[in-house]
Amino acid sequence: MISPETIALVRDRTDIVAVITEGVASLKRRGRSFVGLCPFHKEKSPSFHVNPDRGFFHCFGCKESGSAIDFLMKHEGYTFPEAVRALAERAGIPIEEERGTIQATEAERTRNAREDLYAVNALAATFFEQALRTHESRAYALEELARRGLVPTWEQGASPSAPLAAPGSTTSSSKDPKVDDVLQAFRIGYAPPEWDGLTTFLKNQGTGGVTPVAAETVGLLVPRTSGSGYYDRFRHRLMFAVIDAQGRVVAFSGRALRDMPREGVASGSSASAFPDRDADAPKPPKYINSPESPIYTKGQMLFGIHQARHSVRQSELAVLVEGNFDVVSLHARGVTNVVGVLGTAFTTEQAKLIKRFAPDVVFLLDGDAAGRKAVRLSRDAIRSAGLSARVADLPNGVDPDQLAREKGKAAIEHIVASAKGMLEALIEMSLDESFTQADAYEKQARIAFVAKLLAEEDDPVVLPMLKGFTDRIAGRLDIVRSGEGAFRAVEHSVKQAVAKAEAERRRVEAAAGLTTRHQVQVSNGVRIAPRTPGAAERKAIIGYLIEWPVLLDDLEVSEELSMLEGESVKVVAALRRAWNSSHAKLDTDAFLAQMEPNVDSRVRAFVGERLSDPETESETQAKVYLLENANKLKRLLLSQEAAEISRETYRAHGDDGAERGFLRESQERLRAKHGLKP
Ligand SMILES: [Zn+2]
Repeated sequence: MISPETIALVRDRTDIVAVITEGVASLKRRGRSFVGLCPFHKEKSPSFHVNPDRGFFHCFGCKESGSAIDFLMKHEGYTFPEAVRALAERAGIPIEEERGTIQATEAERTRNAREDLYAVNALAATFFEQALRTHESRAYALEELARRGLVPTWEQGASPSAPLAAPGSTTSSSKDPKVDDVLQAFRIGYAPPEWDGLTTFLKNQGTGGVTPVAAETVGLLVPRTSGSGYYDRFRHRLMFAVIDAQGRVVAFSGRALRDMPREGVASGSSASAFPDRDADAPKPPKYINSPESPIYTKGQMLFGIHQARHSVRQSELAVLVEGNFDVVSLHARGVTNVVGVLGTAFTTEQAKLIKRFAPDVVFLLDGDAAGRKAVRLSRDAIRSAGLSARVADLPNGVDPDQLAREKGKAAIEHIVASAKGMLEALIEMSLDESFTQADAYEKQARIAFVAKLLAEEDDPVVLPMLKGFTDRIAGRLDIVRSGEGAFRAVEHSVKQAVAKAEAERRRVEAAAGLTTRHQVQVSNGVRIAPRTPGAAERKAIIGYLIEWPVLLDDLEVSEELSMLEGESVKVVAALRRAWNSSHAKLDTDAFLAQMEPNVDSRVRAFVGERLSDPETESETQAKVYLLENANKLKRLLLSQEAAEISRETYRAHGDDGAERGFLRESQERLRAKHGLKP
């Protein structure tokens, strides 16, 4: 637990413009605020505003808003404590834990230990990157990259001793600077064949805090069984760094490379480079991954999430592929919202990680049985994370990497754009051509699965689309002899599901009708906000107050605030509670928190706009405008009451005395109320 004092200090000392500029390069000063292209939605003209005085950002387009802490959480995928820590570090504030407790010291120790693990992984990534550029055997790794069409510009051809031109390998691909960027972004490297390459490198780093124990904990080094010391886990492999959303290397994935010629075997020497592998030993696994560690849990990470995060956010969509190479290859061809599952079944944690950046995921898995099974198994994870999922239809036996290489970016984008809804895809998979060839037991199981899918589906958007489905399912099932009974089961499920969806739609519409009837008039399909007299003036008044809360302490101003009503009263109340008169300081977060539960969302959006993009240059100017609006409002209320009085007078018509008395009394009441001289 970080102490509230520290959090307050971090909020106080953080330069929100400096933080946001790193993610929004287009940020330019405009008056008291800064304006740039919104990083949370696609736009051509800037509507993203940052106000350094209030430490607040707001987008007029997509309505994202908040503090520097919120920005790091929303834009970089940090958790709250991570964001606070990162900002504290920038501002040079020592993090104070909830003080004095044993747990705090313990927490600090754990965190320091984790920092060591990140540090050793970062060093190892650098070592592998260097080896890819300089090690005498690097040609094997470059050859594997070239096979995927990934040839960096810095590749100067192989060193003379390295056997680059293996039969069947294609190194003719043109060199591409985009490949350089991608190799760097993904920190792709080469683990050399020696048993002690990394071990020695880490040892030579001196006593800078990196211990062999830390390297063992993250699975880079393995303790020798005989005697003391360590050896490298990853040898002669192409290395992919697994980087978390915040950009820290948490693990590695090493791909096997073509065997090196085994020197010395012919001459009878046993000192082979690979003492653990005889000629007839089984082939090593294609991929070796880091074991789990305090900083890496399998199934909680997505390969490429750091590199893809901005693109995922902007396209509001993550594309999920199976292999590391698929991710790298698609990024190199300009499809950058792509992440990989890292060799596990898609988990709820992974789905939630995507949900932090986008509401939508498209499965772009190999078009084979394994790919289909992976889609089927991911359904629960998708549902429990609240993601919406679609399935792209890759040709059978083609992987995304291959498609991108052969057909380019447009082909991938087309296939992603035409992805089917998950429910539809799952049903089609169950009832595809292989259905007719399945045995009776298998058919029954698949029909039961489809019926279950339909019964469980509760997305009101998806369900009405199922109506047309019945015929197609019938068409498929007609082919089989036992189809009749099976079809009725499915048809029943479809009908039930559709009925459920329609009931839900009616319920939603009824609820909406109830609230909108009083609030908006609908004319030609355009929603028109009702004209409450004085609404514009009240809005203007709270706008100037938000910009200059110091006006709350101004007697002339505060007298006028009694004319406010409805939502604007709540805003002013929240503003008062968050305004510290003695320090002349507004706690923006407290202000927003005070309003949060009970203020209308449109009013909240307006507050966000004024916090991030002030209209006035000075307190004096704001006060003048505020009082002008207060006067307008006063006159308006007066004329309203006058109208009210004349209506009542009309009713009293016929009784002269009563009429005159009533009129006089009312006028006096009015004058008194608004402090006007008779
Ligand atoms: Zn936006």
